[in-house]
Amino acid sequence: MKPIAIVGAMQQELAGLKQALQNTHTIKLGSREVTSGTWHGQPVVLALSHIGKVAAATTATAMIERFDVTELVFTGVAGGLGQGVNVGDMVVATEFLQHDMDASPLFPIYEVPMYGRAHFPTNLHLTQSLKAAAQDILKNPAQWIDMDVMRELHVHAPKVHAGMVVSGDRFVSTNVESRDLQQRQPHALAVEMEGAAVAQVCLDYGVPFGAVRTISDRADDAATVDFSRFIHEVASRYTLALLGTWLSKRSSG
Ligand code: SAH
Repeated sequence: MKPIAIVGAMQQELAGLKQALQNTHTIKLGSREVTSGTWHGQPVVLALSHIGKVAAATTATAMIERFDVTELVFTGVAGGLGQGVNVGDMVVATEFLQHDMDASPLFPIYEVPMYGRAHFPTNLHLTQSLKAAAQDILKNPAQWIDMDVMRELHVHAPKVHAGMVVSGDRFVSTNVESRDLQQRQPHALAVEMEGAAVAQVCLDYGVPFGAVRTISDRADDAATVDFSRFIHEVASRYTLALLGTWLSKRSSG
């Protein structure tokens, strides 16, 4: 059976996933470690992409070329841009766009040259199943996250959203910048630094792609507050619960 690839940007998040795998075997591919194993009876390969579009694209390419993966799921955190997309919510991406791509006037702004498109969709079936798993988790967040921690980190009644996510090689952390992005991309729910690159690689290879992000900040002046604590105590736990639920449903259904 060919494996499913799970790729994430943050070390802390990946550490939890690695522990959930059985029969693990770790190899080095370039500068990164890739761990293969099984989870709920499914073969899985797990990798840390590191941060940014190039790191994410090379990781995705290596996973596809080396392991012939059946699909690729990307997880991580993101800054909320859309109205009502708050810290502690989850965003399931339906499509990606690179907000820092601009080869104008040769090509329209945002369009990736030679691809004839700015928007890179995720796989519909994968996205629906990830969304269902995210809704399952957020029905009862207290099952996964300490209520006091939620209060301290300003997480209130977390929700699941599905829609466009934008990526670029910038950590967006000022009110001015996030307002500018909201104006340029009014449909964007969230901003991060990897997804659009992975979406492009997966389109190249015809590999179904899905992505889920936990909102860690609002991409504004407060964006760096308690970032590592949030990853450790909220995002990592969500991801572990979400992917575990998602995989167990697949193996039972
Ligand atoms: N201050 C952090 C930097 C992490 S970079 C640190 O010290 O570790 C941010 C990572 O989270 C990237 O993987 C990116 O995809 C995501 N991310 C979260 N919030 C973001 C935001 N507001 N803008 C861009 N990327 C964000």
